[in-house]
Amino acid sequence: TIGMIAFDQYGHVAAGTSTNGLTHKVPGRVGDSPIVGAGAYADSLAGAAAATGDGDIMMRFLPSYLAVELMRTGMDPSAACKMAISRIKRHYADFFGAIICANLTGHYGAACNKVDGFLQFHYMVSNGESDAPLLKSVDCF
Ligand code: ASP
Repeated sequence: TIGMIAFDQYGHVAAGTSTNGLTHKVPGRVGDSPIVGAGAYADSLAGAAAATGDGDIMMRFLPSYLAVELMRTGMDPSAACKMAISRIKRHYADFFGAIICANLTGHYGAACNKVDGFLQFHYMVSNGESDAPLLKSVDCF
């Protein structure tokens, strides 16, 4: 999945996803990516999040919605992302997944569930701080 969060000059935020789904998916499978609150969620009064990974598990927890609601309470994006992953982890310790989060003050973060072969998650950030997009990494937990 490609997940994206974008802010315009007026502070409006949008989030979107594009995915090929999962290998060997059954015809008609929807997955999490197009489900608002699961694959992505945005609210210009709180922030935005976008998720990737095992959508059949993740969609049951609306991780993007949860992360945005946590940021609405003032939680910083990294902590909100972590909390959204933790919520799933509690039920599916070995699920494969990651999430990116950004708030209205320009702060952002990401989190991922540590499983065999997935120790770090990489994402790109483009903002006024640099001419070129920056590659960021977060250690999975
Ligand atoms: N979340 C997507 C899905 O389950 C797959 C992915 O993130 O690569 O359809």
